Amino acid sequence: MKSLDSLKAVGFDLGALTQGDIVSQSPINGQTLGQVPACGRVDYDQAIDRAVAAFHRWRRVPAPRRGELVRLFGEAVRRHKPALAELITLEVGKITSEAAGEVQEVIDICDFAVGLSRQLYGLTIASERPGHHMQERWHPLGTVGIITAFNFPMAVWSWNAALALICGNSIVWKPSEKTPLTALALAALLEDVTRNFPDAPAHLSTVLQGRREVGEWLAGDARLPLVSATGSTRMGRDVAVKVAGRFGRSLLELGGNNAMIVAPTANEDLAVRAITFAAAGTAGQRCTTARRLFVHTSRYDGVVGRLKRAYASLSVGDPRAAGTLVGPLIDEPAFEAMQSALQAAREAGGHVHGGERIDVPGLKGHYVRPAIVELAAPCAVSDRETFAPILYVFRYESIEDAIAGNNAVMQGLSSSLITRDLMEAELFLSAEGSDCGIANINIGPSGAEIGGAFGGEKETGGGRESGSDAWKAYMRRQTQTVNYSGALPLAQGVKFDVE
Ligand code: NAD
Repeated sequence: MKSLDSLKAVGFDLGALTQGDIVSQSPINGQTLGQVPACGRVDYDQAIDRAVAAFHRWRRVPAPRRGELVRLFGEAVRRHKPALAELITLEVGKITSEAAGEVQEVIDICDFAVGLSRQLYGLTIASERPGHHMQERWHPLGTVGIITAFNFPMAVWSWNAALALICGNSIVWKPSEKTPLTALALAALLEDVTRNFPDAPAHLSTVLQGRREVGEWLAGDARLPLVSATGSTRMGRDVAVKVAGRFGRSLLELGGNNAMIVAPTANEDLAVRAITFAAAGTAGQRCTTARRLFVHTSRYDGVVGRLKRAYASLSVGDPRAAGTLVGPLIDEPAFEAMQSALQAAREAGGHVHGGERIDVPGLKGHYVRPAIVELAAPCAVSDRETFAPILYVFRYESIEDAIAGNNAVMQGLSSSLITRDLMEAELFLSAEGSDCGIANINIGPSGAEIGGAFGGEKETGGGRESGSDAWKAYMRRQTQTVNYSGALPLAQGVKFDVE
């Protein structure tokens, strides 16, 4: 934990976090990493009032200056990248390379947001009235509530935070109760940068630790015009209804049940590598994890045979060890959910390969061999998201059938086709193709770059975060008309003459 000591200088001291009912337990070995108190209702209300007051000051700061704060924060994250990655590995169990990749995402979105802070463009619009001009302007929205899931404990917050801040908003963050420490470390870095930035008001960014009730308070709080919530579809359904009930906006990033299709012309080496990373990587705990695989009949035996061999040789174990590709599941309930899904698949006639517990000497975490399940047809268990490394495999005959299979679930996050056939690729990307928010050719469904808008359709919630024009969700749009003519012509030729 040597690199973690570098965070002490900004106020994050793991050794001091010994009080409170939110307990961070490492999935690597069950060790308690630290404890923090949950936020109570009185403290919550005061924190939101302070965050709203911070918004009233921050919205007056020019957007490029706001970008400068985010630039400095990104620089601080760069300097502390090894420590932050180590913390992700300890708290979530990601292998070192994936943990470093997650911190890199934080850095990337900061860079993106800095550029964006000079590009919050509105439109000018031709007015039908003489001596008038019209324009559209984007204004800061208010205090943004951010609820995050355990599996991307830094990146998801940063997608929201970097954009919300350059858009002129203050932010309040309810991290997963399973990952309180990664949140504290990032918050300490941002706090340090903010303290030394004269334009930034106090309480621009707040962390509210707690279980789901803190998320429920955010969803029901009319002081928050936007609640961005990442997690399960069950959670999103609750948040969506609560926020809509008060006419707030929600930005929802929920569960996925992502498919890959391997077509007759697929490059087999590429397919096997892409599938294995997407399905078994991160121990199957990405929202974009490949959970269903449709393989053309002509390629089935070759591709699935190689996949089984690749899975059997995957090194599962301590995520800190060089060479490990699959770390632990987050906790016991995740292990139980995986085993009960495999049992349901067996009862549906599936052939299960792998999925068993793996004993890692000296470590008491929940380690499993990623599973492949061959099924004759989709069934209830393959239609739902089980947040574990299970890949359901089906045969298909025509690309139309494979696309229909891709689209036949309630989730609509990510999708992928491995092919060298241009016609098939274009069909998959067309209006008749994948119905997901993300559609890839010759790469798996996971591992998105921050430059694209990230999110999905249907029960994935419809939100878009990160790149492209996702920033518009964090601002309010105003259509403005200015009359410089001295006369008062009315639109649509309406006459209303008053003596
Ligand atoms: P979860 O839904 O259990 O918890 C997510 C967050 O919501 C936590 O902070 C939790 O405390 C809070 N929460 C739970 N119930 C709530 C409620 N009723 N009201 C308000 N807040 C509530 O999810 P998890 O187990 O932490 O994460 C795994 C899930 O997240 C998977 O379904 C995965 O697909 C999804 N996920 C989606 C994306 C995406 O971008 N689409 C990204 C990461 C994870």
